Amino acid sequence: MLQDLKKKPNITLDGREINVYANIGNVSDVGMVLQNDAGGIGLFRSEFIYLHSATFPTEDEQFAIYKRVAEMMGGKKVIIRTLDIGADKQADYFNLPKEENPALGYRAIRICLMQREIFKTQIRAILRAAAFGKVSIMFPMIISVREVKDAKEILEQCRKELIAEGKKTGEVEIGIMIETPAAVMLADELAEEVEFFSIGTNDLTQYTLAIDRQNPKLDPFYDSHHPAVLRMIEKTVQAGHRHNCWVGICGELGADTSLTETFLRMGLDELSVNPGSVLGLRKVIRSLDLGTGKAKESDPPVQVPNEEPEAVPVEAPVEAPAAPPAEKPKEEAESQTKKTRFSFFGKGKNK
Ligand code: PEP
Ligand code: MG
Repeated sequence: MLQDLKKKPNITLDGREINVYANIGNVSDVGMVLQNDAGGIGLFRSEFIYLHSATFPTEDEQFAIYKRVAEMMGGKKVIIRTLDIGADKQADYFNLPKEENPALGYRAIRICLMQREIFKTQIRAILRAAAFGKVSIMFPMIISVREVKDAKEILEQCRKELIAEGKKTGEVEIGIMIETPAAVMLADELAEEVEFFSIGTNDLTQYTLAIDRQNPKLDPFYDSHHPAVLRMIEKTVQAGHRHNCWVGICGELGADTSLTETFLRMGLDELSVNPGSVLGLRKVIRSLDLGTGKAKESDPPVQVPNEEPEAVPVEAPVEAPAAPPAEKPKEEAESQTKKTRFSFFGKGKNK
């Protein structure tokens, strides 16, 4: 029974742990998140607040929603994605222009950086809500370091203004979505600016394969398992970890359990999925053995050497080893070497 997995850690048989969070669009989804025992909210699609409103939601209206979610999550992480409107998500009162190629058009962070009052209203609400829980902020559709610097500057400006007005604010972890090939290619530089990356595989697939995700006719070509997409994910993880930036996936692919082992081997730190997929994913994670030789905490105590055995270099001369651990089959040795290339313990930065 999946329900029996509640309160159990998302840990493989050999001891690799990963955060499993949930995606939401509204306060009303939080009940499902809690019922399914997700470790946090990895993606709050805040644009649904705008889509369900007849006019721009005010700072106080947004604050009330973010605060409620943060409080309901009781200290667990809540990652609020800033407004990702445009393309397939339209609200009349934005008066967005009709575009030839909306997916490549005026959307998400582009709107926020051009119409700063809208952006500031939301950021102020998020900063105020952060005083009531563990809130992170995440910027969507990033293609350049400049955009991230600008967004962070606006955030700091909002904080200063709130403090000057005597309003309470909280610390927020800052992250970006990796949804464009440009962001993947700049991942090293971008990771210097933020504390986490969340890979939006829905858009990353669309932009990598040049396939409109809204066009059903192209479904046979829209392949999230395409090697180019998987390599983008791998590169993002590697770049993030080089700069102490944790890396997750919040696109649909995170719930694809045929890839869970691949994601764990790549070193992903978090998978954020729809609430109903949390426990199924936990079950798969707990059944995997990545062959890292680490014991699960709950296993009976075993005699272990003080230091972890060194990974066997693939090219090492095959001399008679003194102890059994060195006699790993080449395949396993390769996976261990690969493991050492990834940091399996990506941590957040306190910038
Ligand atoms: C994504 O692109 O993978 C993503 C999570 O964002 P959305 O689906 O809301 O565009
Ligand atoms: Mg997206």
